Amino acid sequence: SIPLSFFGGIGGASKSGILVKGSNYLEALAKTEIIVFDKTGTLTKGVFNVQEIHPEGLSKEELLELTAYAESFSNHPISHSLKRAFGKEIDNERISNIQEIAGHGVSALIDDQEVMAGNFRLMEKNNISYFKGEVAGTVVHVAVNRNYAGYILIADEIKADAAQAISQLKNLNIKHAFMLTGDTQSVGIKVAKDLGLDKVYAELLPGEKVEKLEEIFSQKSEGGKIVYVGDGINDAPVLARADIGIAMGGLGSDAAIEAADIVIMNDEPSKIATAIKISKKTLKIAR
Ligand code: ADP
Ligand code: MG
Repeated sequence: SIPLSFFGGIGGASKSGILVKGSNYLEALAKTEIIVFDKTGTLTKGVFNVQEIHPEGLSKEELLELTAYAESFSNHPISHSLKRAFGKEIDNERISNIQEIAGHGVSALIDDQEVMAGNFRLMEKNNISYFKGEVAGTVVHVAVNRNYAGYILIADEIKADAAQAISQLKNLNIKHAFMLTGDTQSVGIKVAKDLGLDKVYAELLPGEKVEKLEEIFSQKSEGGKIVYVGDGINDAPVLARADIGIAMGGLGSDAAIEAADIVIMNDEPSKIATAIKISKKTLKIAR
């Protein structure tokens, strides 16, 4: 049977905006040894602002327009941000042959031009040579009819409570705090350093995130638990694979909320330490 204190614990968590789907998850949380975070939408806001536009062979306006059109059907935080930066209504009649390749980007026919927008991997896959310089932010490369058309530099912001969230976890004796991201090494390393994370695994394809989590399992002790925190865009399988999957409920996708064991309603990463504290207190009362 479930000790009465667990009902109190789950109730207390829900008052703090933390939805716990079962007493077993509340119990397991107290044994957390390793926490693995997704980056975009989890530790960062998932709202990218356009920093620079570098067109090749067309105007800045044209590059932004073609990109926003190619992105118009995607649900990725990057595509929402580019549509917002374009700021004008999109004429769906001009768009056909839409494709989204997870961890790469998108492609579509805009009028009669084939437009691709995404990361270095999308360019390499299509044998398109692209700008390879070091920049501070996330690069969206664009190709029109398989010719490089330049790039748009975008940047996301770290959430206000993210650094505090990591230091609170360290005070709770969590052994390791790691980050997984599909973004580049340079962006990943910068965020990890700013937040005091122990390690970052970057440039991961969605499927590789699950493999990486499985590797990380070997770093925990027998009874220890691994928590994964994500927003569900391309990481629902990782949420499901962890001992305890925690999803961001506000920005997160329905798939994430479905796959998760615990949902943080207001998307604040500092709620994870709150949840662990509630778990530890609940276990003490139950004993
Ligand atoms: P993460 O949430 O860790 O950034 P994703 O797998 O969602 O991981 O995305 C990985 C990378 O793939 C992004 O950083 C971006 O470079 C590229 N990408 C994914 N979707 C899009 C998109 N719709 N438009 C442009 N780039 C994209
Ligand atoms: Mg993500």
